[in-house]
Amino acid sequence: MNALNARGHFHEIKECVVWKERCTEVRKMLEGYGNVREDIDTAIDLMGCIEILNEQVLDSDVSLRFNPENHPYDIIAEYIGCGNINKMDAFGVFVTSIAEKVECDVGNLQVLPNSEKGITFAEYMLAIAMHEVRHRLQSRRLVRMFTYASAEFCEDRSLSSLINRTFIAFSTKKREYESEGKSKEFIRYRINDLEFDAQIVVSYVISKLQEGITRKEMTTLIRLEL
Ligand SMILES: [Zn+2]
Repeated sequence: MNALNARGHFHEIKECVVWKERCTEVRKMLEGYGNVREDIDTAIDLMGCIEILNEQVLDSDVSLRFNPENHPYDIIAEYIGCGNINKMDAFGVFVTSIAEKVECDVGNLQVLPNSEKGITFAEYMLAIAMHEVRHRLQSRRLVRMFTYASAEFCEDRSLSSLINRTFIAFSTKKREYESEGKSKEFIRYRINDLEFDAQIVVSYVISKLQEGITRKEMTTLIRLEL
């Protein structure tokens, strides 16, 4: 039931996008770069998710970039702020091996930090979209970010426990990266205040989505702050 609900959200996103019309052009471009169909489909779906969520939460004044390659740090999507209000910021999706990466992440996320359940493919796609849109809100200083200290002031017990668990997860991940010999830039890229805040919001919204909140409530929750 809950998973169906999330799938419903996902299909709604895919169906209502003006985006569909632009798909043919994007598909042709990516095929030209040698991307495989499975990756192209996943990348288009994900960008559709990001575009619609972004429009509902902020505005459409953002560019959407498909990168046919892999990101050096293996990420799936990114938000590129430009630091200049007169210039356009962007969302990027990295197409090479995206389908495999998403499947693999879904498999690894058997249990969400804030829930008893695992995450479905559709929920994970939404989670990535929410994560990137939250980054745009952060960049425009439209939200007060969560920090580790937020747990202390938080009246919602499930949220404060999520903040604590996310802090532990980030610390563990950082130690793992260090012992794997990852570069300082890589670690800074993955473990920082912006990622911490985005992670909390996304885990919280996904757990609420699994409880059956509406689409409108979901978009409001992306602006979550204390
Ligand atoms: Zn991020």
